[in-house]
Amino acid sequence: MAEAIKINSLSKTYENGLLALKNVNLSVEEGDFFALLGPNGAGKSTIIGILSTLVRKSAGNVTIFGKNVESHVYETKLELGVVPQEVNFSQFEKVGDIVMTQAGYYGLSRKLATSRAEKYLKKLGLWDKRNERSRSLSGGMKRRLMIARALVHEPRLLILDEPTAGVDIELRRSMWKFLSELNESGTTIILTTHYLEEAEQLCRNIAIIDGGRIVEHCSMKDLLAQLDSQTYVIELSQPMTEVIKFGPLVASAHVLDSLTLEITISSSVGMSSLFDLFKNLDLDVKDLRMKNNRLEQLFLTKLEKLEEGRLV
Ligand code: ADP
Repeated sequence: MAEAIKINSLSKTYENGLLALKNVNLSVEEGDFFALLGPNGAGKSTIIGILSTLVRKSAGNVTIFGKNVESHVYETKLELGVVPQEVNFSQFEKVGDIVMTQAGYYGLSRKLATSRAEKYLKKLGLWDKRNERSRSLSGGMKRRLMIARALVHEPRLLILDEPTAGVDIELRRSMWKFLSELNESGTTIILTTHYLEEAEQLCRNIAIIDGGRIVEHCSMKDLLAQLDSQTYVIELSQPMTEVIKFGPLVASAHVLDSLTLEITISSSVGMSSLFDLFKNLDLDVKDLRMKNNRLEQLFLTKLEKLEEGRLV
């Protein structure tokens, strides 16, 4: 398989002298669903900025589908759709116009642009809003609009910078479903996140970045195998009325109050099995979060190993 992205010895020093990326090497295969995971300030957005030529690298080499992003600016831009972290369209423009304008940037004919805008606004549940000004949209709708806009030229690679930061669980899950289907239909997807559970739910491969350095680059499966168990805090929409029997999937369960549960499961049990379990028990999950931060746990393990000199 071809490589969607290949990053070699990439470094970035911002004008103020801050070293944001330190000799980053990263590759993402075509068709992959890849997570770039790391805490705030780790360098994730800087990498995306360099891939989309919004940020100038200091050293190294970056290719998208085998083409250098600097010497083949136009070709690589055509392959790439980017959904930024912050809303960056005009609040006064109409929803449909925002997508059509983007199609214009990519040189799509009016006819093709119109049909693509319809296709993606419908897929993202925004078709009814097409004649409304974007400022009237909810936060979740604005994010979906940025996804529709990024897809209008049907890029082979979609990069999303923290797509679900601050988004409620219902919308998060519908976004996960949309992105999984898009990936299944052949689009390579890279997302940055600081939620390990999001990467776990969606991604096959992963890189962890911390302080501008890649500290892990492996499959999601291998990463999770490094952890034994995980405790989730689950909030229900309706109070529990009777004692719940969870069965063997759940190592332990504690009822905190009639709406809140703490559940510990083995790391080998995926989150989707957990969702299925609740569905089968007829319990509607309003929110689910990790009790302890597994990402931090992983960092600590990595850093310990680094200090021991077992990792380069
Ligand atoms: P992340 O996306 O992982 O949160 P960023 O790539 O945004 O991380 O930031 C990496 C580091 O670079 C941070 O320390 C941040 O403060 C710094 N940084 C980002 N953009 C700039 C800039 N334009 N000028 C100076 N420093 C920057």
